Amino acid sequence: MIVTRFAPSPNGPLHLGHAWAAIVAHDRARRDGGRFLVRIEDIDGARSRGEFADAALEDLRWLGLDWDGEAIRQSARIANHAAALERLKSDGLAYPCRCTRAEIAAAARHDGPDGPVYPGTCRGHDIPRDAPLAWRLDMAEAIRRAGTLTWQDEIAGTVRAVPEIFGDVVLGRKDAPGSYHLAVTLDDAADGITHVTRGMDLFASTHVHRLLQALLGLPVPVWHHHRLLVEPDGRKLAKRRGSPSLAQRRLAGEDGRALADALRAGDFPDDLTLGEGGHGGAGI
Ligand code: GLU
Repeated sequence: MIVTRFAPSPNGPLHLGHAWAAIVAHDRARRDGGRFLVRIEDIDGARSRGEFADAALEDLRWLGLDWDGEAIRQSARIANHAAALERLKSDGLAYPCRCTRAEIAAAARHDGPDGPVYPGTCRGHDIPRDAPLAWRLDMAEAIRRAGTLTWQDEIAGTVRAVPEIFGDVVLGRKDAPGSYHLAVTLDDAADGITHVTRGMDLFASTHVHRLLQALLGLPVPVWHHHRLLVEPDGRKLAKRRGSPSLAQRRLAGEDGRALADALRAGDFPDDLTLGEGGHGGAGI
């Protein structure tokens, strides 16, 4: 049975782009009689806020999107993230790093999908293992062990995984044992997600997730990276100034189900359009 999910980070109010992502995930599952789950990705302690999580669930109900079971909280999975990080450490695939973001930005020779690619400063050095700022994946060694990998996207077809474009990604930090890449990969496996639907802005991240699945022996889902709702000039909606959030529309009395149906019909409000979408990555 098909299982999809919508996995918002409660760092701010949801906007129309989130509505579109949730509709794609919901309808993809329901079309085939499958399950649709909601997972609140609330492990960013500095930015996550309970009221954004509550409002997100209210927004989904307002759009007429019903999910199966209780909404899942990623923060309940931290022990699982920590255990996977320990396994990668003991397999010799994770190393401690004490570089600050500023040091990395100054030393990086090029950018990858998540920003400056870590130049490997701490790799192979005797960094104290008690309190590093981050644990990083030894990408070259990971690829050597995993071999050539591919993944299936319902839209892009068969894709060869090229996680090396990210360099030695962060697996965990002092304040959270699972980075975005590690946590989302583990949680999709724990939730039995068969079809990972999400925006094209996360397309490149899938290279890393596919590699982590191989290293940790996790099941491999199918992906479905959909186009993003963008402004007519192609700018990402998330960056849009002054566009009302879903909560503002809801509280102003707008009909959420009618809005969802309009999006399904390609009748996008405020002159928005479906962009081509870049093959970008996620922030960590
Ligand atoms: N929580 C992520 C976000 O809101 C999405 C995770 C995912 O779909 O992989 O951007």
